[in-house]
Amino acid sequence: MTDTDTRVSQLVAAKPRGNDPRSAGALFQFVRDGLPHTRAELAAATRFARPTVAARVDELLASGLLIATGEAVSTGGRPPATFAFNAGVRLILVADIGASHYRLAITDLAANIVSERSLPVTISAGPEPVLDSVAAEFEQMLIEIDRPVTDVFGVGIGLPGPVQHDTGQPISPPIMPGWDGFDVPARMQRTFPVPVLVDNDVNIMALGEHRSQWPDVANLLFIKVATGVGSGIISDGELRRGAQGAAGDLGHIAVPRGEPVPCRCGNLGCLEALASGHAIVESLREQGYDIEATAEIVDLVRAGDTRTMQAVRQAGRDIGDVVAGCVNLLNPSVIVIGGVIADAGEHLLAGLREVVYSRSLPLATEHLRIVTSQTAGRAGILGAARMVAKRVLDAPAIDEFLAGA
Ligand SMILES: [Zn+2]
Repeated sequence: MTDTDTRVSQLVAAKPRGNDPRSAGALFQFVRDGLPHTRAELAAATRFARPTVAARVDELLASGLLIATGEAVSTGGRPPATFAFNAGVRLILVADIGASHYRLAITDLAANIVSERSLPVTISAGPEPVLDSVAAEFEQMLIEIDRPVTDVFGVGIGLPGPVQHDTGQPISPPIMPGWDGFDVPARMQRTFPVPVLVDNDVNIMALGEHRSQWPDVANLLFIKVATGVGSGIISDGELRRGAQGAAGDLGHIAVPRGEPVPCRCGNLGCLEALASGHAIVESLREQGYDIEATAEIVDLVRAGDTRTMQAVRQAGRDIGDVVAGCVNLLNPSVIVIGGVIADAGEHLLAGLREVVYSRSLPLATEHLRIVTSQTAGRAGILGAARMVAKRVLDAPAIDEFLAGA
């Protein structure tokens, strides 16, 4: 053996297992569609040699990630066995944390909800009490479905403020005192020692709405109108977070021709200062209404209160003023409106459509649909589960899991 050969073989030996292009993790990517596959199909799809496929399938069967699903139709001789992804073998814990309530769910590895609950929360209480209660609820939910903590494969958290996605740390979130720079993954990993991914709540909502309702649409803008206003951008099929994770922060774009109302970010005339649930509540209170919470706006609209309907429609126009520019910039084919105020749907959409269709370029609006969310408040948890699944089921993660199993 030459020196070069020795160096090469040392390099190969030192290579992390996850980088093996013919690893079980690499083959696993071809069964993530959940459909039954035969060994022959997998050999054709992966271009691995048949004995390699057989060995990898055996590894995945032993881990429980793959299960035998029966037999394919025979083309002569013994019918070949089929295998499929066993998504229920492990679990993902997800929390969509808002300013005043959170929604928790346990899902399987294909983001199907197994267990779910919603509870009130005070985000301004700070990260320790909020995340302690999230962890305690998750533990209780696992007991209720009779699954051990060791079944948890990953945790996904959505927070109502800017988040540096790489580190999972909130960055100067305006409505979350004490959360700036807090190590959210480290806290959750004290209870669940698995990968913990954190993102802005609107990003995970965009992901959840897109993957569950509009999987064939490549360009979608999700706008959350609740206590605040924000958006998540799906472009060319992928969630776009921008350089620092701040992409989509619509709420602090100034409304053209808007009133110079002071915003909590320190600027004047931001969209959020004019058209958020908080802003609508404030303007109604100035008109003598005795209301506190954003959700009460929806009750007033449903009760047919004219001034509230007008206020919601004007909020829709203000949002439309900013969104019209986004439509020219991003050319989405679907805009989904979610969040509490979207429950007052038609009035908000009417105002928004009125401005977007008149102010955006004709080519950009030719096939544009503006709709309300179809996920009944679950967009956030569905998106968080998919975000985590993407990370914990990639080839290196599966190889690492199999190495430790
Ligand atoms: Zn602002």
